[in-house]
Amino acid sequence: MKVGTPEVEINRIGDELTTWGLAPEKIIGQSKVVIGLVGETASLNPEQIQEVSPWIETVLRVEKPFKRVSLDYRNGQPSDVVVSTPNGEVVFGLNHPIVMVAGPCSVENEEMIVETAMRVKAAGAKFLRGGAYKPRTSPYAFQGHGESALELLATARDASGLGIVTEVMDTADLDKIVEYADIIQVGARNMQNFSLLKKVGAQPKPVLLKRGMSATIAEWLMAAEYILAGGNTNVILCERGIRTFDREYARNVLDLSVIPVLRSLTHLPIMIDPSHGTGKAEYVPSMAMAAIAGGADSLMIEVHPNPAKALSDGPQSLTPDAFDRLTTELAVIGKAVQRWETSVPVLV
Ligand code: PEP
Ligand code: MN
Repeated sequence: MKVGTPEVEINRIGDELTTWGLAPEKIIGQSKVVIGLVGETASLNPEQIQEVSPWIETVLRVEKPFKRVSLDYRNGQPSDVVVSTPNGEVVFGLNHPIVMVAGPCSVENEEMIVETAMRVKAAGAKFLRGGAYKPRTSPYAFQGHGESALELLATARDASGLGIVTEVMDTADLDKIVEYADIIQVGARNMQNFSLLKKVGAQPKPVLLKRGMSATIAEWLMAAEYILAGGNTNVILCERGIRTFDREYARNVLDLSVIPVLRSLTHLPIMIDPSHGTGKAEYVPSMAMAAIAGGADSLMIEVHPNPAKALSDGPQSLTPDAFDRLTTELAVIGKAVQRWETSVPVLV
């Protein structure tokens, strides 16, 4: 729509297109409103739509298979994902400071989760991550403490004021997780669990969608499309490394090229997880710095008070001290790209 189109006119156009059997969606950007039309639009003539109102600036056909997640659908405007936390709203998006999400792979006990929360908060993190339900390759490996771990996350949330990110594996657990989490994580192994994607699309909490370890970018965006099609537009995409031919020295290959690629394809915010991306704590800092320099909106870093004793992903977890040092280094790059919140305490 043209800048300054009266709201009544936008609503009138929406009503008229509805009578054509379409389901218009109003997307309100900073300066413009876009009306999105998804469905049986192949036979529609763009000129016919243009004639509905002189306030219509242009009619664009989104040719890609992913519609709602595509940048075209928002006329090139990146979207913000706004998340409520006890300490206020945190915004993930291109025009906002980098958001740090940190915490252990799994929630193990109250002491470790509260301690980790306090330490990562002091270093500038806005969210505490921690798995209650863990997707493990072996059925004999630690599977997560389940519901009791959700209670511990709530305790850590109260103590720290941080928002909570935790993974859902099973649709049966979703309602319970929604009560505790501020962001619902869908893990790499479930990226194409379509019934789970439909369910997280139909609940109100923002969703962090990790890239499947063998997923193409198009498959990942189609997975995100499921969530948006379900009615939930608050999706953050998280690159966590893909599997290639070489697994000898790094757990995965962290595909940082997704940052510019996704930026050209989608309006959704981009998070990078260098912990799962490399599998080794010593490789995490350089990839975290590269992610910020490369334009990521957010980082997810695994932090554990005693990585040697961790019940999962110890080798890739930073100690709280190492996380302090990392955030000091990240601040230098974050400031250089003008994406660092100035009130974040810089520890020296
Ligand atoms: C995790 O975040 O701990 C996790 C299991 O990640 P991924 O799904 O990327 O393997
Ligand atoms: Mn992990």
